[in-house]
Amino acid sequence: MTQIGASLLEQLLGADGGYRGPRVDCGDGHSARFVGYRTKTITTVLGAVTVRRGYYHCADCGHGVLPRDDELGVADASLSPGLRKITAVAAAAAPFAAASTLLAELAGIRLGTKRIERSAETDGAAAADRQTRESAAICRGEVTVLTPAEQPVPDKLYIAIDGTGVPMTAAAVAGRAGKGPDGRAHTREVKLAAVFTQTAVDDEGRPIRDPDSTSYVASFATVGDFAPLAAAEATRRGAEQIRQLVVLGDGAAWIWNLATARWPHATPIVDLYHAREHLHALADLLTDPLGPDHDQWLQARLADLDTGDIEHLVTTTETLLPTLDPTLAASTAKALGYFTTNAHRMRYGYFRDLGLFVGSGVVEAGCKTVIGARLKQSGMHWNIPGATGIIALRSLQASNRFDTIWTHPHNQTNIA
Ligand SMILES: [Zn+2]
Repeated sequence: MTQIGASLLEQLLGADGGYRGPRVDCGDGHSARFVGYRTKTITTVLGAVTVRRGYYHCADCGHGVLPRDDELGVADASLSPGLRKITAVAAAAAPFAAASTLLAELAGIRLGTKRIERSAETDGAAAADRQTRESAAICRGEVTVLTPAEQPVPDKLYIAIDGTGVPMTAAAVAGRAGKGPDGRAHTREVKLAAVFTQTAVDDEGRPIRDPDSTSYVASFATVGDFAPLAAAEATRRGAEQIRQLVVLGDGAAWIWNLATARWPHATPIVDLYHAREHLHALADLLTDPLGPDHDQWLQARLADLDTGDIEHLVTTTETLLPTLDPTLAASTAKALGYFTTNAHRMRYGYFRDLGLFVGSGVVEAGCKTVIGARLKQSGMHWNIPGATGIIALRSLQASNRFDTIWTHPHNQTNIA
């Protein structure tokens, strides 16, 4: 059946030989001259088909122009757009070798591991590149986002931000310092923003995330280059229309610098579970001085934290400082710095009364499902362009925007 289909498709494609007159625009403003016909084999979901199409040459640029390839979406690609989409779905879901087996088992399509990797990473990288350019344009106000007419309009929009390490090849981390025993980096950080909305609270006043409302952007970029990606995503999700904007993160300084610069009107909230971990670490420091009072002291400070009374937490702890040896006093004061710095982001009692989320679990889960589950499998080592492509495919898929990759003119050019 597929052989018959391939034969029909080949005849269908052959009906247009791609001759567009004696001269065509080369794409750079010059005129390219018709030279003759060239053949190309394209692998499709039905198998290989050979197409013969007009070939033009631009004397100014010195390169060939094949109008038919652009129309068919096969310029610089040997797979048809339909097969590339299937390949990207498989390669986003599973390691390349497993994706190859999946395609063979499910669709009878035999593609080598390298071809799958190259095709999926190329299409993913193109999508990432387009997202970067589009985000910059949104931030400059050159592109206006039309938000969907949701009924009812969500009440709260959350931007939850986190980072996670992806294991890299030696070449991709050459010369970078790391935290490991050899002092060399083995991973690169991917920054991830998970954007979701919340409208309702449950019977006990706890917030409920709107179903299917989470979208993701992820990148290896520096904070400076990640900022427009995250900002544009928030704008796409209606940050300018929704009443209450919240930024959730752990204590990492870069997150709060970004939040202050981009969303000064948002309510910033430090993840309660990170704050509790810091408090446990502080209590561990004070194990000896507190002696038998340790557990009771910790419970009282956890209660301070839960209500958001950071001043009480800090002043109570500071009363211990004069009794401590200088080294311990210094490390205790340093540990308290986390709480004083973030005090206004830790008003948990107040936030809870407003029915707000106080944990960044959504973005931490995103780090695991969007990034970790595919990119951090045992024995994997990535380079930046390859990982960027797969991360883009997975982020867009998790955001229910996978189809936007394939409907865009980058692979489907209209006939002029
Ligand atoms: Zn030219």
